[in-house]
Amino acid sequence: MKNILITGAAGFLGSHLCERFLKEDFYVIGMDNFITGSQKNIDSLKKNKNFRFINHDVSKYVEINDDLDYILHFASPASPIDYLKIPIQTLKVGSLGTHNLLGLAKAKKAVILVASTSEVYGDPLVHPQSESYFGNVNPIGPRGVYDEAKRFQEAITMAYHRFHNLDTKIVRIFNTYGPRMRLNDGRVLPAFIGQVLRGEDLTIFGDGSQTRSFCYVDDLIDGIYKLLFYNYNYPVNIGNPNEISIKDFAQEIIKLTNSQQKIIYKPLPENDPLKRKPDIDLAKNILGWVPKVNRNEGLKLTYEYFCSLSKKELNLKEHQNFKSYNKF
Ligand code: NAD
Ligand code: UDP
Repeated sequence: MKNILITGAAGFLGSHLCERFLKEDFYVIGMDNFITGSQKNIDSLKKNKNFRFINHDVSKYVEINDDLDYILHFASPASPIDYLKIPIQTLKVGSLGTHNLLGLAKAKKAVILVASTSEVYGDPLVHPQSESYFGNVNPIGPRGVYDEAKRFQEAITMAYHRFHNLDTKIVRIFNTYGPRMRLNDGRVLPAFIGQVLRGEDLTIFGDGSQTRSFCYVDDLIDGIYKLLFYNYNYPVNIGNPNEISIKDFAQEIIKLTNSQQKIIYKPLPENDPLKRKPDIDLAKNILGWVPKVNRNEGLKLTYEYFCSLSKKELNLKEHQNFKSYNKF
């Protein structure tokens, strides 16, 4: 049985990854400090004898006594609202946290895959975005704390690959959605569905002409699974290239949920990318991966999940965990 460490295990993607690797007969060690994650996401995993959980901040030295074959580094706030509230922890987990996990991978001779993001392309001047595009990021803008932490993460990961010969993988994840997203995390899909469920108007930032391309979580997890075992050390985009404007997306959600809500407009946040669509030719060619779940199907599954949450969870607007964290 192979051992795998998954950081960010109590988060949206981390919990799905833990589930997938348990299904594939791995011994899974999940690590998280719950800064944006939830105990509920790991409750069912904890019942599995091949799962162990460690509550730890990966920006501090990471010690694991077991042998490790693989490491997946997914710990990091991921929603703009989250990383704007905890900018310094965001910078630290992308930089110090990644350094710690690369060091651990080197000590254990483990393969490591790090979660990068389409945000490394910033507000892109090239469309769609392929891996060869260097991006257009404002390092000192509010989103810089996330974008630059992820760009540093890619740089140090490549340095460990080139200098220490570590077997590293980098996945550039485009907007992903599905069950176990936090309803109050501020990302557009939970924001719209939360508003529908609470009977509030849907808030579009800007005029809604900005675009995103949404990938269902199961497709993303499949892509990551394939990439981990493929012999390729440069970044690979994983996302769904089906692009939609945020205005059309809001209308799609209203139609899907059969609701009467109105749309209201709020200012566009600073440096909010105007366009985003992955070029996935590389993933298609080397991994034979393409997304399979269309948006209609994926949105239905996600809506059903959110409908199953309790009233208390629906009305929780602020994330509780931040209160217990220091400024640094
Ligand atoms: P999430 O907020 O649901 O999960 C992140 C998890 O990491 C949380 O459980 C949080 O508590 C944990 N964490 C944060 N800092 C930590 C630290 N210092 N030590 C230990 N645990 C810590 O977010 P997500 O959507 O699951 O994103 C997971 C990863 O995927 C992130 O690295 C993110 O940048 C990347 N990503 C996600 C998307 C997306 O659309 N979901 C897109 C691009 C990249
Ligand atoms: N957005 C919106 N209303 C909301 C939340 C988000 O119009 O209530 C917009 C946001 O400005 C961005 C897009 O939806 O243009 C996607 O935002 P999200 O936070 O999901 O992810 P991003 O791709 O910006 O990281």
